[in-house]
Amino acid sequence: MKFDTVIIGGGLTGLISGIRLLQRGQKCAIISSGQSALHFFSGSFDLLNFLPDGSPVQNPEASIKDLAQQAPNHPYAKIGESKFVQLAKEAEKFLLEIGIPAHGSSSKNHYRITPMGVLKPTWLTMPNFAYNEDNEKLPWKKVSILNIEGFLDFHPEFISEALEKIHIETEIKYFNLPELDAVRKNPSEFRSTNLSIVFDKEENMDTLAKIFSENSKNSDAIIFPDCIGFKNTEILPTLIKKIGKPILLVPTFPPSLVGVRTQQYLKNYFTKLGGIYMLGDNVVHADVEGYHVSKIYTHNHGDIPFIAKNIILSSGSFFSQGLIADTKQVYEPVFNLDTDYLTDRADWYNSNLFDRQNYQQFGVKTNSNFNAIKDDQPIDNLFVAGATLSGFNPLKEGCGAGVSILSALHVAEQILTKEKTHEPITQ
Ligand SMILES: Cc1cc2nc3c(=O)[nH]c(=O)nc-3n(C[C@H](O)[C@H](O)[C@H](O)COP(=O)(O)OP(=O)(O)OC[C@H]3O[C@@H](n4cnc5c(N)ncnc54)[C@H](O)[C@@H]3O)c2cc1C
Repeated sequence: MKFDTVIIGGGLTGLISGIRLLQRGQKCAIISSGQSALHFFSGSFDLLNFLPDGSPVQNPEASIKDLAQQAPNHPYAKIGESKFVQLAKEAEKFLLEIGIPAHGSSSKNHYRITPMGVLKPTWLTMPNFAYNEDNEKLPWKKVSILNIEGFLDFHPEFISEALEKIHIETEIKYFNLPELDAVRKNPSEFRSTNLSIVFDKEENMDTLAKIFSENSKNSDAIIFPDCIGFKNTEILPTLIKKIGKPILLVPTFPPSLVGVRTQQYLKNYFTKLGGIYMLGDNVVHADVEGYHVSKIYTHNHGDIPFIAKNIILSSGSFFSQGLIADTKQVYEPVFNLDTDYLTDRADWYNSNLFDRQNYQQFGVKTNSNFNAIKDDQPIDNLFVAGATLSGFNPLKEGCGAGVSILSALHVAEQILTKEKTHEPITQ
């Protein structure tokens, strides 16, 4: 099987780079073993919320010079200051053009409301999710926090307590719909994705509108768990119109409805453009000849190789098994690439869960063009992007999705520039 580019890992990074390459005329395949981090998505993409020294970032574009000084191996430092600004703007345009109209700008972080009711800085927030432009004053005097009886993946009490602390009056209301009883029969099935099957039905719209109105009489806004609008994205805007006040979504425990929807949306977009998405297959090894990958092999295809001019490794971090840690080392399992990690295992983690965890920064070594490094040498047709990269701390710096999206676009551009004199491959 021959392609211009084969992408290993079909999460946010693999899909963004794949869509970009297809848009530019390449023939692409994504091989992806399973779920991605998007299934745990908060509804907001972070670009840069804190510098490595902990100072808060209001304007990611203006802070990139300081970041590069503090962390010269950070993927953003490799991308470079002016290219970072260009790619961040390009990412905003890219998402909008493919039909993901997220709110936000790389020149000013805004604040999302977390499931704990805390205001956290972020870059881009998905439609209908609760956010505010600043972190001091919210525009509401009183909000109603609505939950469904028996739904355990959302905790209104935390949100209420946090909002009351910043002088917003709150009321918590629970409701039920008889149609939910069928889902409720099995408590482990009473999850956001299944609730949305009931909430997304047109015939339940009037009942829902009545419940929302009656339970928010003196409130300026309603806060509701993200469990509506999975298949029917028109239902929430119509409800908001009907009741005449904002219904603001807050993420639930996984599965993240908005995340699963975004994953499926990107995957469908990729396949509609002609991309081949192989879900449930695993790249297991490769032939590397003289710092060039000639063939890759998957579990399902056995000894039938995939041949591509270029390969993108976007297999994620430990969470997705793009990186593996054993008692002695951190390694990348497909190509055995060079990895950045601390040699003393005791330094990998901090016993205080909320402190900086060094292991978060471990990853595959690359040169400044994001070519993978193996035995200290760059591999000319193997590029690394997203969570597999080393040098950044997605949690402490608040830069997870930003690194994924920007490195995905950057790597796609590197490949297109490299191949611009070549004709697309024919089978
Ligand atoms: C639980 C969690 C929640 C997060 N939430 C947010 C958030 O809300 N906002 C934010 O800004 N950032 C968030 N992040 C940071 C996150 O890393 C990025 O946002 C981003 O989604 C990572 O995308 P990725 O495609 O690089 O990796 P992943 O999403 O991890 O995807 C990697 C994919 O590669 C596949 N794979 C792995 N090995 C192979 C192989 N050998 N062959 C084939 N396929 C393979 C995996 O099955 C997986 O589908 C979160 C991270 C985690 C772990």
